Amino acid sequence: MEAVDIVILGAGAAGLFCAGSILGEGGGAARVLVLDHARAPGEKIRISGGGRCNFTNLATERDRFLSRNPRFCASALAGFRATDFVAMVDRAGIAWHEKTLGQLFCDGSARQIIDMLLHRMRGAELRLETAVQGVSRQGDRFIVATSAGPISARHVVVATGGKSIPKMGATGIGYEIARSFGLDLVEPRAGLVPLTFAQQDLDLCRPLAGLSVIAEVSHGAGKRRASFRDGLLFTHRGLSGPAILQISSYWQPGEMITADLVPGVDIAAALRDQRGQGGRISPAVALTRWLPARLADAIAAVTGLQGARLADQGNAALDRLGARINRWALRPVGSEGWRTAEVTLGGLDTAMLHSHSMEVRSVPGLYFIGEVVDVTGWLGGYNFQWAWASAHAAARAIVAP
Ligand code: FAD
Repeated sequence: MEAVDIVILGAGAAGLFCAGSILGEGGGAARVLVLDHARAPGEKIRISGGGRCNFTNLATERDRFLSRNPRFCASALAGFRATDFVAMVDRAGIAWHEKTLGQLFCDGSARQIIDMLLHRMRGAELRLETAVQGVSRQGDRFIVATSAGPISARHVVVATGGKSIPKMGATGIGYEIARSFGLDLVEPRAGLVPLTFAQQDLDLCRPLAGLSVIAEVSHGAGKRRASFRDGLLFTHRGLSGPAILQISSYWQPGEMITADLVPGVDIAAALRDQRGQGGRISPAVALTRWLPARLADAIAAVTGLQGARLADQGNAALDRLGARINRWALRPVGSEGWRTAEVTLGGLDTAMLHSHSMEVRSVPGLYFIGEVVDVTGWLGGYNFQWAWASAHAAARAIVAP
C-alpha cells in the first residue's frame, strides 16, 4: 500500500494553503500528498469574487463569523491574519485593490491566487481526479480509501469543503468521515444564498428586476438581531444582492426579514414636511428624492397612492407609505439552496476540535480545516481568510506539535 506522511483531502483554498504552510513551516522533509476528485485545483477560488477573488478582509474579527461556538475561530484567526495573507500576495507580485469595507480583490484574475498557492506548495504532490471515499484508523496510522486504491498516512487533514454548489465538486464527504469517527455535526445548511419569496412580494419585485438600491436588511431582535446595510437587488426570483445574501445566513425557515429601503431617513416624517410646503406633486414623485423612479412608482401603487396628490394625504396614509419603505416586512418562503449558495453553514461541531490546531480531540493526527468546520464568514473575503487561517493552524501543529 502507498504510504505517505501527510494526506490532505481536498485541493481547495484550505487544502492548498495547508500543503504550502506545512512545507513553509519546516515540514519540507515530509511526504505530503494532496488529493482531489476535480480536474483542476482551487475551482472555487477561480470563480470567486466575480473572477477576481475577494481573497481576504482587513476587518477580519471573530464577530464576522457564524458558529455554534462564536469564540472558537479566534485563536486560528489571531495566528494568521489578513495582513499576513496580504504580505504573501505582495511578495508574489499580485496587484490588488480594496473595493469596499476592507474587501481585497485581485486587480487581475483569481487565477493568480491559485498559481501563488500552487507555487508555494512545490515539494508536495498534487493528485487530481482521485475521489476520496473514506478514512479509517489502523494502529497509529490512517488508511484513506480512494478511487485509485488505499493510501496510508500518519496525519490526515480533511479540507473537503461544504455542500454548496455540487457542480463545482462539493460532496459532503467530510461530514461522512466525521460521522465514521463518531464526531458530532452541526446540521449543514445553505448560506450566503438568494432567498425566494411569496407571490405578493414577487409581484412587486419582478417588474423591477435589475434595479438595485442600498438598503438595510435586518432579521431577529435583541441579541439575535443581525443587520446589513449594502446593495439590494430586485430580480425575477425576488430579491438578491449582498444585503440579502448576508441576512440569508441568519434567516431560518418561517422567519421574517425587514428591509429599510432608505436607511437613515424617516420617510413618513420627510413626506409630512414636504406636504406642509404645499406640494402639488404626487407621493411617487416626492419619493424620487430618495428612490429610483420605478421603485417609487411601484411602492406608491402597492400602497394605493398612485396618481394621488401629496397635499391630499393624511398622516395615516403617509405613515403607511413610510412603513412600507423604512420597514418593509418580508417572509421568505425558502432559499435557492445548495445550487447557488456561496457557503455552507454548520459542519463539524467545533467542540470536536482543538481551536489552536484544528486537530480532532478524540483522534490525534486527524484534522479538519476550512468550510467543512462549523465556522462560516460573512460575505466579503472572510471565508477565504478562515480557510487560510485554519489551514495555517493545522500545518503548524503538524510540523511542530
Ligand atoms: P473548497 O474550496 O470547496 O475545496 C474543497 C475541495 O474538496 C474541492 O476542490 C473539492 O473538489 C474537493 N472534494 C470534495 N469532495 C471530494 C471527494 N469526495 N474526493 C476528493 N475531493 C473532494 N469566499 C471569499 O472569502 N471570497 C470570495 O470572493 C468568495 N467568492 C465565492 C464565490 C462563489 C461562487 C462561491 C461558491 C464561494 C465563494 N466564496 C468566497 C467562498 C469560498 O469559496 C469558500 O469558503 C472556500 O473555497 C472554502 O475553502 P475549502 O478549501 O474549505 O473548500
